[in-house]
Amino acid sequence: MPITLEGSCHCGAVRFTLESHTPHPYQLCYCSICRKTAGGGGFAINIMGVANTLSIRGRKALRIYRAVICDDDGGNCETSTGERNFCSKCASALWMFSPEWPELIHPFASAIDTPLPTPPVRTHLMLKYKTSWVEPVIHKGDLQFQEYPERSIESWHRHHGLWVT
Ligand SMILES: [Zn+2]
Repeated sequence: MPITLEGSCHCGAVRFTLESHTPHPYQLCYCSICRKTAGGGGFAINIMGVANTLSIRGRKALRIYRAVICDDDGGNCETSTGERNFCSKCASALWMFSPEWPELIHPFASAIDTPLPTPPVRTHLMLKYKTSWVEPVIHKGDLQFQEYPERSIESWHRHHGLWVT
């Protein structure tokens, strides 16, 4: 059985539950969108769940942010398909959904109230976009990527024998 995760925003206007096979918060993203919208320490952590199990209370308070992403030189800007859902009352970042991967939902670990398992190792990604004052804490066995990591969240959990069946 996948694990049921309960989450909420800070003010409590939005509460949600979802099922997850992949609850380890191991993937630290240092991109500017994550840092600015959800990562005061310099990064945000997404986990992954099954989109059609998402149940929401307080949907009225939800708003969606779609980031505009440009090339490194500032050209070729496009609005991301990724929908970053947040609470309009307290601004808590809640989850990311993209219609390109309709079966997946990516809650921010910071919004989850259910105690999450501590990952044995971590993956640090988008280090190319890290800001100067952030010094990643790299432990033995951690992986580092300038952009996207090699393994998906599912592949990482299966590789480490941590996929929750
Ligand atoms: Zn709220």
